[in-house]
Amino acid sequence: MIHEILPVGPLQCNCSVIGDESTREAMVIDPGDDIEDVLALIRKHNLQVKQIVITHAHIDHVGGAMKLRGATGAPILLNQNDYSLLKMLDLQAAWIGMESPGKVEIDQSVGQADTVRAGSLTANVLHTPGHTEGSVCLYFPAEKKLIAGDTLFAGSIGRTDLPGGSFQKIINSLHEKVLALPDDTIVIPGHGEVTTIGDERESNPFLVKG
Ligand SMILES: [Zn+2]
Repeated sequence: MIHEILPVGPLQCNCSVIGDESTREAMVIDPGDDIEDVLALIRKHNLQVKQIVITHAHIDHVGGAMKLRGATGAPILLNQNDYSLLKMLDLQAAWIGMESPGKVEIDQSVGQADTVRAGSLTANVLHTPGHTEGSVCLYFPAEKKLIAGDTLFAGSIGRTDLPGGSFQKIINSLHEKVLALPDDTIVIPGHGEVTTIGDERESNPFLVKG
């Protein structure tokens, strides 16, 4: 598995470029910004992007998706429960003082139990509402890797005070879906350091049982 993690944009969203070493087919997850740098990685590994997957419709994760689709022809996938947030991209841009990326078109919704593929690589989609209603995580069972979006961070969890957020829902998603994964699962959060399910189960203050 080729896996490059590139922090993009002013909020340093972790964009993942994941490719199959033999077929060179790839998926890009959360191309929030800095698409020239993402494309440079794609060229460096000689990859062909087949899917653009968005963990949730916050601007720092989805802002560069149309530019990447234009450059690669790959479809954009996002859970349908976040389509309403896409209509607020101008407002989201204003919140963080960014230029609006314009309209983002979704090619396909992805939800619980769907799979996303690039060559021989397969990710299971976990629908994990809470940070937003349409938040998803991608779990690669063969590689024991989780792309967590803004649902889980090293030592923290996603904020739930923005439109569509729910603290009770994110806690339920974490306990029912994320913590159901094996302890040695590597977690790539939407921002910040890589961690593991075991470390978070043991020490994340939002998850440890009192
Ligand atoms: Zn977010």
